[in-house]
Amino acid sequence: MPVTDALSRRPRVLPPTLPLVRVGQLARGLFLADSPLYLASHWRLGRSFPCVAPLLQHCPWCAGAEKREHAYIPILLGHVGYKPTRELLELPPHVFPENPRLYGLCFSASRRSKRATVIMTIEPRPPNVSAPPPPIGSDQVLRTLAKVYALPDPAAYETENEWLLALEIRTRSPDYSPGRHNAKAALP
Ligand SMILES: [Zn+2]
Repeated sequence: MPVTDALSRRPRVLPPTLPLVRVGQLARGLFLADSPLYLASHWRLGRSFPCVAPLLQHCPWCAGAEKREHAYIPILLGHVGYKPTRELLELPPHVFPENPRLYGLCFSASRRSKRATVIMTIEPRPPNVSAPPPPIGSDQVLRTLAKVYALPDPAAYETENEWLLALEIRTRSPDYSPGRHNAKAALP
């Protein structure tokens, strides 16, 4: 029997989300993107709400809540004695140089306590560290942040406009309440 309707196309594959981490006492690893993406948050009612002004041109929380700036960059996080893992690292924006080209570079970030300033050093990859995996694109970063903030998954919509409409509806809903913004601390 001739096969006329064999499956020949790979279905659309969603980019996976990444675990979100912040700097504990010390985090070391490799950057998997050239530059971070920025997303501010608002602290209200004991939770973090995303600042959606850059996406929707207005934000329901800008007028009434404190705003905190965050930078997010995909990394390969080193663990002493374990295989490195792909993570999304949350950092204060000031630790990054201007116009960075960070992919494949090594970093070491530390802070003395949870509220202390993060100090980051960036260095070329030493010859004994193997080549980094391919870069992680902004789609994966955006999907991860949408999940963190309980926003509609951008990969589930055909067009950007559909997603923005879903985002508008979700953030205007009186029932919208993002989960607690609790990135786990990276273990050295
Ligand atoms: Zn805002």
